[in-house]
Amino acid sequence: MKYVKLLLLGLLIASTLLSDVNAQKDKTKTKNKSKSKNKVKPTEPATLERPALQKAEACSATKCKLPDCRCSDATLPRPKFKGKEKEIPQFVSITFDDAINVVNSAQYELLFEDLKNPDGCDATGTFFLSHEYTDYERVNSLYNAGHEIALHSVTHGDGTEYWRSADVKTIEMEFSDQLQILEAFANVPRESVHGMRLPFLQISGNNTYEAIKSLGLTYDSSWPTQQFKNPAMWPYTLDYLSVQDCQIGPCPTAALPGVWVAPMVTWTDMEGYSCSMIDACAYPPEDKVDALFEWMLENFNRHYMGNRAPFGMYLHAAWFSRGRNYFAAFKKFINHLSTYPDVYMTSVSRMLEYVRKPVLGQPFKSCEPKRQAECHAVQCSVQKKSSKETRYMNVCNKCPAVYPWLNNPLGQDM
Ligand SMILES: [Zn+2]
Repeated sequence: MKYVKLLLLGLLIASTLLSDVNAQKDKTKTKNKSKSKNKVKPTEPATLERPALQKAEACSATKCKLPDCRCSDATLPRPKFKGKEKEIPQFVSITFDDAINVVNSAQYELLFEDLKNPDGCDATGTFFLSHEYTDYERVNSLYNAGHEIALHSVTHGDGTEYWRSADVKTIEMEFSDQLQILEAFANVPRESVHGMRLPFLQISGNNTYEAIKSLGLTYDSSWPTQQFKNPAMWPYTLDYLSVQDCQIGPCPTAALPGVWVAPMVTWTDMEGYSCSMIDACAYPPEDKVDALFEWMLENFNRHYMGNRAPFGMYLHAAWFSRGRNYFAAFKKFINHLSTYPDVYMTSVSRMLEYVRKPVLGQPFKSCEPKRQAECHAVQCSVQKKSSKETRYMNVCNKCPAVYPWLNNPLGQDM
């Protein structure tokens, strides 16, 4: 009926009607949670009301200034830090992707146990979380331990093509639904979620970054660089054209002011190949603690002895089971890092806080406030609608009626 009217009454009324449809859709999504209703961005059709993007121009330091704009070719946090590289704090971003479960969360807790930064604050990491098989009670506890919970989509997709060709609407839905799931079942506040990583690191040109902007997120960390590893690339914004090498395209070409790219500066494996994640290195050293440790140190030193660009340790927990000594070597290495007077292991978003307002010496005046997101844990056994399989799911608060999924993030019985 609505669409018949739409045809008859022309464009003006059509747009009113359509926003109505969106409002209704939104209401059903958040039926039981009026609290989050106003904060939820409706996912509008890509063809409606989306302003045309402007082609990005070359960046110049005179036009692009901190804290909100940074050129991709700036090799130091501030030009005046030249010659004082040894006073720039060295950030290390430890990130894990995919589902958080009972097994890997125990490993994460062991890794970060008693690990401190030189300012006495807890060392932390970032978890790019995808939905399926995730234990949201464990997510809640990692969040309360000070780690950053970031987004890695609901479905994880079924291959790179899904993500390569994803339009803005698909990306918005995958990530905003995961955000709703986090809020509803792990009590992780929406305001604490700032970033995302695409599955398979497969971005889709401007669409990815347009979605980041419309979702109210700050950064993406999916874009690897091989060309800019020595000196290594610092994070930058997409206000102007990026000079970063496009390893897994399509890469953005539009001006997207205020969107940060935390580039994945690649490692070098034992045969000299570049790898965007530690577990993507085809030729790691032999499975011995010392050999693995030395290899990590060598990759780290390219940053630490150079321009101090943030050093990424990107991996999946599954890497720990690839070799008998992988976990021990990783633990030994990060314990070693915690002995440096100027190395800070923080979440990506905390590191970006520094990049926006860089100083020499100690990067922050105080630690991040302690978090206390409550969790009344319940164990649920619910059906995944598409496959009729039973899924066990630990959540905070209350069990959903069905397994939450894309288009039904709250798992309502529809
Ligand atoms: Zn993944």
